[in-house]
Amino acid sequence: MQNLSAFKTLLHKPARVVVTTHQKPDADALGSSLALSAYLQKLDHTVSVISPTDYPDFLSWMKGEDSVIDFEDGNEELSKKLINEAEIIFCLDFSSLSRINGLGDMVAKSTAIKVVIDHHLEPEDFANYIEWDTAASATAELLYDLIVDLGDGHLIDKHIAECLYAGIMTDTGSFRHPNTTQNVLKIAAELIGHGADAAMVAKLIYDNNSIERLRFLGFSLSERLKTLKEYNAAYISISKEDLKKFNSKTGDTEGLVNYALSIKGIKVAALIIDRDDEIKLSFRSVGDFSVNDFARNHFNGGGHKNAAGGVSSLSLQDTVEKFEKLIEKYKYELNPKLKKVNA
Ligand code: 5GP
Ligand code: MN
Repeated sequence: MQNLSAFKTLLHKPARVVVTTHQKPDADALGSSLALSAYLQKLDHTVSVISPTDYPDFLSWMKGEDSVIDFEDGNEELSKKLINEAEIIFCLDFSSLSRINGLGDMVAKSTAIKVVIDHHLEPEDFANYIEWDTAASATAELLYDLIVDLGDGHLIDKHIAECLYAGIMTDTGSFRHPNTTQNVLKIAAELIGHGADAAMVAKLIYDNNSIERLRFLGFSLSERLKTLKEYNAAYISISKEDLKKFNSKTGDTEGLVNYALSIKGIKVAALIIDRDDEIKLSFRSVGDFSVNDFARNHFNGGGHKNAAGGVSSLSLQDTVEKFEKLIEKYKYELNPKLKKVNA
């Protein structure tokens, strides 16, 4: 952070603080929010964590989770009040106000000091303080470094450490993605030093499946996974009926897109889901193909180079057709061998 000493002064005086994060928070979003909240409470701030939506059950072990305010769950007025009264608003793991749905307008209008801590590409310019680095694996990594830079590393207890560890573990794909840097592994080790139980966090997040979720996974892979082999692309499309049939809960589709990407030779993968009010798309890639650009240019979305998401207001079938046509347009990028064939 450029103006670290001013930020430190700001945190010195107890204040009313709101911490918020992107819709359908994942382990990094929720873990960072709860870690920050616990840290700020140790500095005597009064903190409310507001999530724009619900989140997966496998995050409910996180300390402080029971006091998270779900904006959509009848908490519009309470959220408005807290945001209006807040002196500082922290925006974690997103940098575009559209990512927090109805909260976006409230945050934009608020006169509170705004702080963004994020690692997504192309941030909007609305904050007074920004801790932003697209090279960071996770918001949790940035937050850890920030707390240490503020001279408060000693305040990181077991619970804060486990929330941060969960964010880093999941955003690096369990320390497998290229964002698994020396700093990531150093921080992970330090978090274990602060008391984080790494095996337990992994177990709570990854081995917490319902039988319906596993059956849904089996169904998706056998019935809904398609490859566009010539273009090194694969996708899974899920209808509303599919979701209903398997009693799908928030979080049940998380990680599904990675199976499509795990197929040998596949360079880009998508998960296309017919949600209540829109079609939601998740993209993953390996190598140079930027799904951030792809999502931004064609699906009103964004994210990172190799992991991004977007939306579509077309029907599921039309969205699938749009995706297939687009992939064909990028065929030389996705499969340079085709160039020679067609030359
Ligand atoms: P996921 O596919 O896991 O939902 O998201 C992958 C990455 O893309 C995450 O970093 C997420 O924040 C970002 N992302 C997902 N959906 C959207 C979207 O609709 N808009 C933008 N700007 N980013 C998204
Ligand atoms: Mn993240």
